Amino acid sequence: MYTEDDLLPISALQHMIFCPRQCALIHVEQVWDENRLTAEGRLMHERVHEEGNELRGNVLIERGVSLRSLRLGLIGKADVIEFQKQPDGMWRPFPIEFKRGKPKKDNSDKVQLCAQAICLEEMLKTSVNEGALFYGRTRRRVDVHFDIDLRKETEEAAIKVRQLLDSGHTPKPEYSKRCENCSMMASCLPKPLQKRRTVKSYLKRVLGDL
Ligand code: SF4
Repeated sequence: MYTEDDLLPISALQHMIFCPRQCALIHVEQVWDENRLTAEGRLMHERVHEEGNELRGNVLIERGVSLRSLRLGLIGKADVIEFQKQPDGMWRPFPIEFKRGKPKKDNSDKVQLCAQAICLEEMLKTSVNEGALFYGRTRRRVDVHFDIDLRKETEEAAIKVRQLLDSGHTPKPEYSKRCENCSMMASCLPKPLQKRRTVKSYLKRVLGDL
């Protein structure tokens, strides 16, 4: 169990799965490149949180809910938690996270949502089996089931983030297709750094160790 002083942001899990270097740039080096896409995402989350809470029939909607898990050592905020009233009178929590873009190929968004569910389970001492991601660009809602594999991936991501942050080490860039969608491209410079390494290895090959 971690203490309240030792909690890491849930968002770091998503960054870790997308790219460990991105995670280190943001959470170790505290670099943040605000661009049009990140600004749009930030404004969208702020708007969602501002809308306040409401009761719609048998669904209580809470926005901007603070979350934490001492077991995983995580802290964060859920965009929306729908509390759905069950026939037995209990309220079942259902987390919903808003994303600006479209569904991703990796599991980063699902892991972030699953971490929220694990926090809710610990805080409310209940089970949370499902949630949803809502994507702004496609206007599509994707239901997510928190199965054993997703929970395992989430717990492993939390461990990896802690190891990375404890090491204080930023991995070297590895250029790939994902870099084209990375908000840290300007700070990371994956192409120029790789090029420099290539030139260095070329000189070493031609001239040997001088
Ligand atoms: S630009 Fe590429 S290597 Fe650099 S942080 Fe982003 S995804 Fe990672």
